[in-house]
Amino acid sequence: MNDSLIGTCRSDFPILHNRIHDRSLVYLDNAATTQKPSAVIQSISEYYSTINANVHRGVYTISQQATDLFENTRETVRKYIGATSTSEIIFTKSATESINLVASSYGDLHFKQDDEIILTMMEHHANIIPWQEISKKKGCKIKVVPIHQDGTLDIETYRSLFTSKTKFVSMVWVSNAIGVENPITEFIRIAHDHNVPILIDASQRIQHANIDVQKIDCDFLVFSGHKAYGPSGTGILYGKERLLEHMPPYQSGGDMIKKVTFETTTFADLPSKFEAGTPNIEGFIGLGTALNYVQSIGLDDIAKHEAILMNYAINALKSLDFISIIGYNGTNVSAISFVMNGVHPHDIASILDKKGICVRAGHHCAHPLMQFYKVPSTTRISFAMYSTVDEIDACIRELKEIYSLFS
Ligand code: PMP
Repeated sequence: MNDSLIGTCRSDFPILHNRIHDRSLVYLDNAATTQKPSAVIQSISEYYSTINANVHRGVYTISQQATDLFENTRETVRKYIGATSTSEIIFTKSATESINLVASSYGDLHFKQDDEIILTMMEHHANIIPWQEISKKKGCKIKVVPIHQDGTLDIETYRSLFTSKTKFVSMVWVSNAIGVENPITEFIRIAHDHNVPILIDASQRIQHANIDVQKIDCDFLVFSGHKAYGPSGTGILYGKERLLEHMPPYQSGGDMIKKVTFETTTFADLPSKFEAGTPNIEGFIGLGTALNYVQSIGLDDIAKHEAILMNYAINALKSLDFISIIGYNGTNVSAISFVMNGVHPHDIASILDKKGICVRAGHHCAHPLMQFYKVPSTTRISFAMYSTVDEIDACIRELKEIYSLFS
């Protein structure tokens, strides 16, 4: 993205022009959530001001308009990720709920005692605990793909984990904790060689580069709208139609049925079967606007811009001998984790906050990964399309100050 486009895109995000603690806001916590462009904020406000009505039920005009806008997002998501049909796009409240849906529904149908599920060492808790829960219920075992010190998954061990009992693989595309991008196409191919379906957690990939689910051939893919410039409370589950069709509903209630009697119920077709109750209408309208906005900027340009920022930040951090970068293998996408000699990540984040700089300190919902690196927590900076070199410079300047203060 050229300089003028960066300027234009920053002006689309009202929050970036706010001041905090009398300083310009420097937002470097984009892996936690992204800021929202005016178009998204306006689309939500317009929905409430002009056509607020429940979807799928009303015959009157504004209900139909609300339904059309809401369903347009399904088509926008379908195109965005390259799915074949809108039946394969399930609206949930988050990536977390999408994974819970698959673990619970697919697991209930297909898992049995002693079956095995493969996860990796770098999963977010959202891609560990749902599998633990279904494993407790069904008596399954979880196997874990180890990683090397630089954050690269050990693909040879992955190959060797498959047995006749392996029933599922679930793995992250880009780690939220260290930013490493995994070669998922290879992982998917290996799973399929064993006839095992695989879920890809694309929460940290969807906002940074193009995605084509047919090309990578994953069986399921999940993400949260709020990390892709959209509203909170919106999640996507993509699933191959032939798999979703057989899976039982995850929740039940209104909007997911064909016919109900007190004796029995027949369920609606996809995707409604998995969408019980009134959905987050304004959220999904906003998500459609967000994904259209991302595409208007262009994912290839976003990826290029963020790669430049990553390179710049990595070199700047590497030049500081009191900083150790955690889990860097050169594939990292828009997030860097590090520790500073003798200074706790929470102290770093609190002091940066006073300078208007937002970064994340903690375990990043990845306890097993922190255990592997033998650190309780790290500091993480993460970028979005509107991030700038000046913001990285401001952060690096303050990191030097913090180190000299503590030493
Ligand atoms: N997976 C990854 C890789 C994530 O980064 C996150 C959010 N940090 C999640 C899953 C869960 O997302 P959410 O909390 O929006 O459901």
